[in-house]
Amino acid sequence: VVSIAWLRDDLRTADNPALLAAAHDGGAVALYVLDEESPGIRPLGAAAKWWLHHALRALRHDLEALGIPLVLLRGPAGDVVPAFTQEVDAERILWNRRYGGPEREVDTAVKEWAASTDVQAESFQASLLHEPWTVRTGGGGPYRVFTPFWRTVSAMDFRAPFPAPDKNAAPPDGIPAGEDLQDWNLLPLNPDWATGLAEAWAPGEEAGLSALSDFLAGPVQNYDDGRDRPAKPGTSRLSPYLRWGHVSPFQVWHALSRVRGNGPGPDVFGTEIGWREFCWHQLFHNPDLATKNLRPAFDGFPWEHPEGSGPQTPAILRRKAAQSPSRSRPDGLDPLDAWKAGLTGIPLVDAGQRQLWSIGWMHNRVRMVAASFLVKNLGIHWRVGEEWFWETLVDADPASNPANWQWVAGSGADAAPFFRIFNPQTQAKRFDPQGEYVAHWVPDALTPAYPEPLVDLLESRRHALEAYESIR
Ligand code: FAD
Repeated sequence: VVSIAWLRDDLRTADNPALLAAAHDGGAVALYVLDEESPGIRPLGAAAKWWLHHALRALRHDLEALGIPLVLLRGPAGDVVPAFTQEVDAERILWNRRYGGPEREVDTAVKEWAASTDVQAESFQASLLHEPWTVRTGGGGPYRVFTPFWRTVSAMDFRAPFPAPDKNAAPPDGIPAGEDLQDWNLLPLNPDWATGLAEAWAPGEEAGLSALSDFLAGPVQNYDDGRDRPAKPGTSRLSPYLRWGHVSPFQVWHALSRVRGNGPGPDVFGTEIGWREFCWHQLFHNPDLATKNLRPAFDGFPWEHPEGSGPQTPAILRRKAAQSPSRSRPDGLDPLDAWKAGLTGIPLVDAGQRQLWSIGWMHNRVRMVAASFLVKNLGIHWRVGEEWFWETLVDADPASNPANWQWVAGSGADAAPFFRIFNPQTQAKRFDPQGEYVAHWVPDALTPAYPEPLVDLLESRRHALEAYESIR
């Protein structure tokens, strides 16, 4: 009996209920479909593609050790998955559930196709601690405020993680080879901007689980304070591993429960896992979270939508600025490009943007400051920033990215009030008091070559508040 485990954002062998069920009768085949064609599916950003390439290599290695072949296919999953199921004459197709609107439509279509044949299709819960449709307020609707959401959800019990399947002594034969990963061209070539990513990250399950155990063996106990120090390794750096499902929230929660009780660190960390859930529940209830203000009042906000210079990389933008005759205002760089390139003249913002470009990740405190600067001091629409993060983050997440941008912009669920505008200088003094983070990422900050601030912080703040008054 051939059973297909259709893997998506769950690229792991342990705590993978779909894979475990597929392996039950010894005929498991793992399938990954690169789907950039189904209606509404958001194509991956460039940093995410880099991650996916390496993640699939690691996954193939891990699955081979279990005697499970991994087949790669490309195309609209609603066609590709049924065709492959018939080709290998599979009896069952199993997957872990997804929560985005277009993805759910694809999954429903495959389930309906299976129901019209004698193929059995079954889905499992693996990526969220609680299914969005099971968490309801007293009034029956979804939660809009985090604190009561988390009070309800964290009091519930979560299942323990499942083990990886046992090694299969007799893998199914006659399985087609599928496509060659190299042919998907997921890696950047010219220029290859990913060397910093490769130095910073090892995509895959093994590295994800060691990041989890390293974090829980030390930094978690001081997380309540350490999480706000961008110069220090005080956070888990689990975000890309959770995004790609190398590590599951059940594994994190279960391991965390073993280190609780020694101070507030572990509980505060648990709350962040809760924010991840809250973002996904928002996406489930608002499939257009990345394109539409959750608070319609913000539809009238006079934000700008600059185009910037398209696909030019920050390295190229920086070179262009360096050649400009005026150092104080790099000629040829509009404010959006200066923000992307880390040349705004605001050291903490520039440090974050350069960290992002260099390693595909930015510290949370600095994400908030850099995003607030774009949306409030530069008056640029949060969607423009969200798209840049989507392109450049290795953890670019369909739920957490738009939900957090809407949080910063004030247009989201339980958002920061618009009038609370981060001052990047005050933030730097509080959270990078020795200036180590800035010195690391912006070594030129104290040199004459460093640009003057793009805007006056106080004046641009006043403008932002006036614009906000116009929609109140
Ligand atoms: P830790 O502090 O160790 O937190 C542990 C885990 O909790 C994270 O890995 C993440 O899964 C989750 N988490 C923590 N904070 C948040 C949060 N605010 N919202 C949702 N989940 C959270 N996170 C993403 O995973 N993907 C994104 O695309 C993303 N975009 C963001 C955009 C903006 C503008 C902002 C302000 C935040 C964004 N975040 C995003 C949330 C947060 O910045 C990252 O999850 C965090 O910095 C990842 O580092 P870490 O794993 O060391 O976090």
